[in-house]
Amino acid sequence: MVLQRPVMNDLPVYKQGAAPEGPDSFKLSSNENPFGPLPSVVDAVASRLGLINTYPAISAPELTDALSVRLGVDAECLAFGAGSVEVASQLIHASAGAGDEVIFAWRSFEAYPSLVKIAGATPVMVPLTADHRHDLDAMADAVTENTRLILICNPNNPTGGVVSTAELDAFMARVPSNILVVVDEAYVHFNTDPDTAVGLDFFRRYQNVAVLHTFSKAYGLAGLRVGYAIARPEVAANLRRVSVPFAVSDLAQHAAVTSLAVEPELEERIAVIRAERARVEAALDEQGWGLERSHGNFVWLNTGAATVAVNEVLIESGILGRAFPGEGIRVSIGSAAANDRFIEAARRAHKLS
Ligand SMILES: *Cc1c(COP(=O)(O)O)cnc(C)c1O
Repeated sequence: MVLQRPVMNDLPVYKQGAAPEGPDSFKLSSNENPFGPLPSVVDAVASRLGLINTYPAISAPELTDALSVRLGVDAECLAFGAGSVEVASQLIHASAGAGDEVIFAWRSFEAYPSLVKIAGATPVMVPLTADHRHDLDAMADAVTENTRLILICNPNNPTGGVVSTAELDAFMARVPSNILVVVDEAYVHFNTDPDTAVGLDFFRRYQNVAVLHTFSKAYGLAGLRVGYAIARPEVAANLRRVSVPFAVSDLAQHAAVTSLAVEPELEERIAVIRAERARVEAALDEQGWGLERSHGNFVWLNTGAATVAVNEVLIESGILGRAFPGEGIRVSIGSAAANDRFIEAARRAHKLS
């Protein structure tokens, strides 16, 4: 056997959401956008295909300019990666190594524990509250002299809960100002709750806050891999240092630039997804699931010990969600047809829950 790092034995391979087993099932396991790409985005990508023999611009200049204007932040505060999961990895690598601790809520985004361990650091996983939201008091209590980074997923994947402005302010008052707090806003476009902490506002108000955004979810570019951090220039520069060179393809950069230019069209689609979420939640409320409100493009069935049994009924009905045995099932909001099917499957499964 060749020598490998001992941590390899402790790293699961990232599990992709279940794929449809036939034409009659719906993949609602990866929070993908049910709409295909906009024609203008397809055209932008097509127009760049003749360049794929060359490396992309490493600094993503056009995307940087467009985002800088769109967000009202300096260009030097932006750093990119192949999806925001890669940027999360950059943030962890830039902040934490052997002996350092990274705090995040659990259950939250499945990639966090592995990314922290790959960096050689120690994950500190703080259980969610009884209503499946971040327990910010317990997270502040978990800070030690070894803490280097805190991840806050807002809205939280997979449970959909949010952290309010007042809660995050109270938390920031307790966290030492030399520890970076990262607000992962992968689902920010699906959230209309006015009390939710807005990452960009916190970035402006606190020197030690960074924000993660992605084009994968609301903008429907999951297959092209582009996300970014908004961070202080020193931190953003370090993210460029630890990034994999040329990770964001030219196709991804131009699809993202075009998406920003057609945001109103994308907003219409996002509004449809939010309306579908409300429809699914109303139907599940009527069935008696007692759902907590989700602010992402998914809902969370709090099935606990019945998770596997409920998930079997969903699978038999062609609904492929993401089940966490013993905890619950996250089901993405899909097309109207997929959501209809999910509502019917949930009706059949409810007696098991
Ligand atoms: C989907 C997701 C991401 C990022 O996805 P990318 O495709 O890598 O941009 C980041 N954070 C959370 C919480 C997510 O659910």
